[in-house]
Amino acid sequence: MAFFFARPARDAARSMPYNGAFFRFLPLMPDAHALLQTVFGYPAFRGEQAEIVAHVGGGGNALVLMPTGGGKSLCYQIPALLRAGVAIVVSPLIALMQDQVATLSELGVAAACLNSATAPDEARDITRQARAGTLDLLYVAPERLLTPRFLDFLNDLNIALFAIDEAHCVSHWGHDFRPEYQQLGILAERFPTVPRIALTATADEQTRADILHYLRLAEARVFLSSFDRPNLFYQVVEKHNAKKQLLSFIQQDYPGASGIVYCLSRKRVEDTAQWLVENGIRALPYHAGLGHEVRDRHQREFLREDGVVMVATVAFGMGIDKPDVRFVAHIDLPKSPENFYQESGRAGRDGLPAASWLCYGLNDMVQLTQMIEGSEMAALQKQVELSKLDAMLAFCETAACRRQHILAHFSEQSAPCGHCDNCLAPPITFDATLPVQKLLSCIYRVEQRFAASHVIDVLLGRANQSVTAFGHDKLSTFSIGRELNQRGWRSIIRQLVAKKLLQVDIARGQSLVFGDGCRAILKGEQKIYLRPPADDKKSRSANTDRWLRTEREERLWQMLRRWRKSMADEHNVPAYAVFSDKTLRELVEKRPANRAEIGRVYGLGELKLARYGDALLDILNEASQSDD
Ligand code: ADP
Ligand code: ZN
Repeated sequence: MAFFFARPARDAARSMPYNGAFFRFLPLMPDAHALLQTVFGYPAFRGEQAEIVAHVGGGGNALVLMPTGGGKSLCYQIPALLRAGVAIVVSPLIALMQDQVATLSELGVAAACLNSATAPDEARDITRQARAGTLDLLYVAPERLLTPRFLDFLNDLNIALFAIDEAHCVSHWGHDFRPEYQQLGILAERFPTVPRIALTATADEQTRADILHYLRLAEARVFLSSFDRPNLFYQVVEKHNAKKQLLSFIQQDYPGASGIVYCLSRKRVEDTAQWLVENGIRALPYHAGLGHEVRDRHQREFLREDGVVMVATVAFGMGIDKPDVRFVAHIDLPKSPENFYQESGRAGRDGLPAASWLCYGLNDMVQLTQMIEGSEMAALQKQVELSKLDAMLAFCETAACRRQHILAHFSEQSAPCGHCDNCLAPPITFDATLPVQKLLSCIYRVEQRFAASHVIDVLLGRANQSVTAFGHDKLSTFSIGRELNQRGWRSIIRQLVAKKLLQVDIARGQSLVFGDGCRAILKGEQKIYLRPPADDKKSRSANTDRWLRTEREERLWQMLRRWRKSMADEHNVPAYAVFSDKTLRELVEKRPANRAEIGRVYGLGELKLARYGDALLDILNEASQSDD
C-alpha cells in the first residue's frame, strides 16, 4: 500500500488518479457495509440505501426515487465497487460529473469522466484504463454514450452496471427535458445482462411512468423513499421590502454561510447580488444572460469556496451537489410546488440543519399569472401552470404544518413536523367575517373593476386622485376599514385569493373580482376565519440549531477550515470533497487525541485517514496547546 499513499496527492485531483482502486488492496472481497465504512467513512446506510445496493449489486434493475440529499450516489457507487468491471454513469452536466469524480478521487476510488472538455490524450488514457479494467466508474454525457463509436467501445468492456442519473430528464413533464435521454433504452437491448439503475429526485407519477417506459425499466424494482427532508426548516414571510428582509435573514441566521437566493428575473438577480455585496455579503449573480465564462467562474467559486451566496434565476441548480448549502431563499414566488421543492431541496444535503426561506407577496402571484397568461403556451398547458401556481399559493398561506402540506402535495401522508414556522408558532386564526364583509362590499361597490391597492385606499378613507376621480370617496364603504392598516388588508386579500373567494382579473387591470362563496359571507350565512398578518419582530429564527462555538472551538474550527481550503486548492477540488462540514464539526466537538479516536469520526474513511490523519491530529494538538 505504501507506494499508493506515497503518490503525490495532486494526482488525486486528476480524473484518472490511480492504477486501480484503493479497496482492491484490501485482503478480502469487501462487502457493501465494509466499503461504506472503509472507503466513505460512514457508519451506516441511510433509508433504503442498503436494500438498493444489495439489489443492484446482485444484478437487479432499479428505479430510485429519493429526495435531494437522500444519498442517491452511493446507491450506484457501492455496487460499482462490489461488481467486477467498470460502472458507466450517465449524467447530464459536465459540472456534475467533475464534482463526483473529484469527490470519488479524494476517497481513492478510480473514477473518471469523458465529456467535451476532456483533452484527447486524457480521453485516450481513460479509455485505455477502462479496457484494462482498472477503472471503477466512468461518467459520460448521454449524447456521447449514444454515438456508435462509444457504443462499440462499450462492447469491449466488462461493465459492472449502468447508472442513469437525473433520470427525470427523459420526461417532457420534468423541468429538465433532454431528448437524448429518451434513447437510453438502447442499453437494455445492447446489454441485456448488465444491471441498470435510474435515479431521480422528481417524484410525480407522470415522470416516473416516463422513466420506466423510455428507459425500458418496466420490470425494475422501484424504490420510493420518503420525500421528507427532516433537517430543512421551512419558513414563509410576507414581503414588504424583499432585499432588506433577505439581508437581515442572512445576517441574523446565516452569517458567513453558503446559500442560494432565487429570483424571478435577471434584473432582480443583478440588483439583489449587488445589494448584498454592498452590505458585506460575498454574493455572486448567475443567470442565463451572463456569458458562459462568467457563469462557469461563479459556479466554480460557489462550489469551491466557503460561504458564497449565489443569487440566481432557476437557470442555476440542477446537479449542484454542494452538500453544505445552509439556506435557500426565494425572494419571489416559485411557480409550482415541484419547483419550490427542488430548489429548496438544494439546502442541507449534508443532513445538518438548513433553511428554506420564502418571501412572497400578492404582486408575485399577479406577476406570475400574467407571465403564464401572456405566454405562447397551449390553453391546456396554461391551465396546468395556473393550477400549479394556485397550489404554491396555498402552501404559502396555509396555517397548518408546511412540511405536511408539501408532502401531501407529493401524495405522502405525514403528521405535523413540529419544527416549521407554523408548527413552532401556530398562527392563531381569528373570526374575520366582519372585515371580510367590509372588503367584499367595497369590491362590490367599485363594481369589481379595481385592483387591490385602490380598494384598500377606499377602505382606509384615502381620498387620493384616483379615488376622487371615480367618486369613490362618496361610497358608503369609504373609510369603513380603518381598524386595519394597508398590510392587514393585503394579508386578508391574499388569503381570500388563496381560498379562491377572490380572483385577480389580470386582463382587466388586476381587478379584484368575486369567486364562489362570497355571497354567503356577505349575507352573513357563513363565517370565515383567517390568520392575522405576520409580525416580523415575532417571527422565529430559521436557524433553530445554531451551533454555538466557544472561543476555543471557534479558533479550532477556523484553523480546520483554513487547512481544508489549502488542501482543496492543492488537490484542485472543492473544499467539501476534502471533508464535509459535518466531519469538521465532529473534529471540533470530539477533539480526538489519537489515531484510534480519529478513525471513528464521520467521513474519515481509510484513505482519508491515512492521508490526512496525522495532519489533523497535529492541528488538534496545536490547538489544545494554544488553549493552555
Ligand atoms: P443526492 O444525490 O441524493 O442528492 P448525495 O448522493 O449527493 O445525495 O448525498 C448527499 C450527502 O449525503 C453526501 O454528502 C453524501 O456523501 C452523504 N451521504 C450519503 N449516504 C450517506 C450515509 N449512508 N451516511 C452518511 N452520509 C451519507
Ligand atoms: Zn411543521
